[in-house]
Amino acid sequence: MTTTNTHATEAGDIALLANGEQAPATSSSSAPSSAATPTPSAPAPVVVPASASTGGTDNIQSAMLFAGTEINAQREIDEEMARRPKVVLPTVGTFTSPFAMRWGTHHGGIDIANSPGTSIVAATDGVVIESGPAQGYGNWIRIKADDGTITTYGHMQTLDVAKGERVMAGQKIAGMGSLGFSTGSHLHFEVEIDGQKVDPVPWLLQHGLDVMGGASSEMSLGSLGGN
Ligand SMILES: [Zn+2]
Repeated sequence: MTTTNTHATEAGDIALLANGEQAPATSSSSAPSSAATPTPSAPAPVVVPASASTGGTDNIQSAMLFAGTEINAQREIDEEMARRPKVVLPTVGTFTSPFAMRWGTHHGGIDIANSPGTSIVAATDGVVIESGPAQGYGNWIRIKADDGTITTYGHMQTLDVAKGERVMAGQKIAGMGSLGFSTGSHLHFEVEIDGQKVDPVPWLLQHGLDVMGGASSEMSLGSLGGN
């Protein structure tokens, strides 16, 4: 602190220069030459005005850097979106029932059985057009994809999304359950194209997804959940 005090006059002169004003000619002449000689190594008066005088340039450079970072971030998001699968399997579990005639009626979807609470995710990007109780389904969620494809999910014990919400493929939307017309904890999954229910198995295969998982023999297991 003692050295700072002795150089107070010089620091003031440099600060004036930093402000764009001419240092008064009298200041250098008034300062004793004997006192000024040992001062050049003093860091404090030099550093403070230097950062002040170049501040404008630093701001421009950091702004340019920031803009570049933003562009890179946006590009990374775009690439990530392009890589992201457009369709994903709605859950994991055992394939227990196909899209077929069953018990005299048409089973308009497929069943995948797993323990209660197993995560169920949106099969596609889209908008939630239904989320709540529905006859036979217990609870259902319906998601309309941007191409008009509607996926329906049934029997869930918990619902994580509300009607009107935008969801992305792979986003958790519910927890598996056995509500409604059901014989055990499972997901009932339907795919609707142009208002017609289609077999989800080939639809998923078209998107590179094998819901059967090579476990088609387990379809005959009656003890697992279905409907
Ligand atoms: Zn079913």
